[in-house]
Amino acid sequence: MNNELSDYTFQTKLLHNNHKFDPNTGAVSVPIQHASTFHQSDFDSFGQYDYSRSGNPTRETLEAAIAELEGGVRGFAFASGMAAISTAFMLLSKGDHVVVTDDVYGGTFRMVTSVLTRFGIEHTFVDMTNLDAVAKAIQPNTKVLYMETPSNPLLKVTDIEGVVKLAKANGCLTFLDNTFLTPYLQRPIELGVDLVLHSATKFLSGHSDVLAGLAVAKDEELAAQFYALQNSFGAVLGVQDCWLVLRGLKTLSVRMEQSQKGAAEIAHYLASHPKVKHVYYPGLAEHPGHSVHFRQAAGGGAVLSFELEDTDAVRRFTARAKIPVFAVSLGAVESILSYPPKMSHAAMPDAERDKRGIRDGLLRLSVGLESPDDLIRDFEQAFQD
Ligand SMILES: *Cc1c(COP(=O)(O)O)cnc(C)c1O
Repeated sequence: MNNELSDYTFQTKLLHNNHKFDPNTGAVSVPIQHASTFHQSDFDSFGQYDYSRSGNPTRETLEAAIAELEGGVRGFAFASGMAAISTAFMLLSKGDHVVVTDDVYGGTFRMVTSVLTRFGIEHTFVDMTNLDAVAKAIQPNTKVLYMETPSNPLLKVTDIEGVVKLAKANGCLTFLDNTFLTPYLQRPIELGVDLVLHSATKFLSGHSDVLAGLAVAKDEELAAQFYALQNSFGAVLGVQDCWLVLRGLKTLSVRMEQSQKGAAEIAHYLASHPKVKHVYYPGLAEHPGHSVHFRQAAGGGAVLSFELEDTDAVRRFTARAKIPVFAVSLGAVESILSYPPKMSHAAMPDAERDKRGIRDGLLRLSVGLESPDDLIRDFEQAFQD
């Protein structure tokens, strides 16, 4: 980024960065470059671009934008969050071991347990709220400590710097799925994390209209390895979708701010409701990870989970709540209510889910841009017998 821009706050950088207009035309929206291949003037010196899997100007704009926002050296755009995460795991080799946070995203759980195992890559799941447990899980062949904080769906908080310290002492890399908070609220690379991963399908694009993944590497060496994997595996993001994510990014700060404000109000409302057994939201002072969370993040975020009595109570509530869409996914302009046991975590066997405390009465809410008062009124009527 050019120097005069680096002083800007995050909010301003979302708009005023090196991509604020196209240098060729002055267009204030990034051009969508559909070409799959690029003419070369002679075979001794290829131009900047040769083939779009290896590099494309629209995709590169998005990749540079996320790298700047996360404070890393290089960004990578993928066809989905899982494509980014799966490509990251390809940094591992047969015989390696990875330590993964307990209530990791369901798709990541599936990748680790049913795909990596076939390639001879072992794993241990640990409760990452407990640094001693993380330390104990590290083996001589451990290469990666994989974090997600706050986690999905129980919003458990991992001490990022604590895990980074353990990783450094043991020669491991750290990966962190930053989907729930985005760099607006949490910048893991500044805390020493090596590779940040995103489902850009969620808050970064923000409108439930694109599937995308992003990754950002902390240093050049890892970036070069990761680029080779992106190019080899080839799960790159298409240019139309890159443009949609870039457009979403422009409003990231206002969306996160408003959604987070709503989430805090709703968390307080639910916490005092007699039909709610428990609220999981790091913004609540009584959340066990509250102080660790606010040391490493600028806000509680816009996702919370809450537990009702049982499946029947969930059924009644979801049938009567009118405002949120009832769907998988999160991080959108509209509020999204989901039922993790049957949706995001359906890939997890019952026993595993139980062990992790993802109980039958659990609902997850991603707060959108509606008036929080309207949402609370809607929930109030949905709780009526
Ligand atoms: C949605 C999600 C993913 C997977 O991303 P896709 O874009 O759906 O492939 C990974 N991690 C978290 C935390 C998510 O919410």
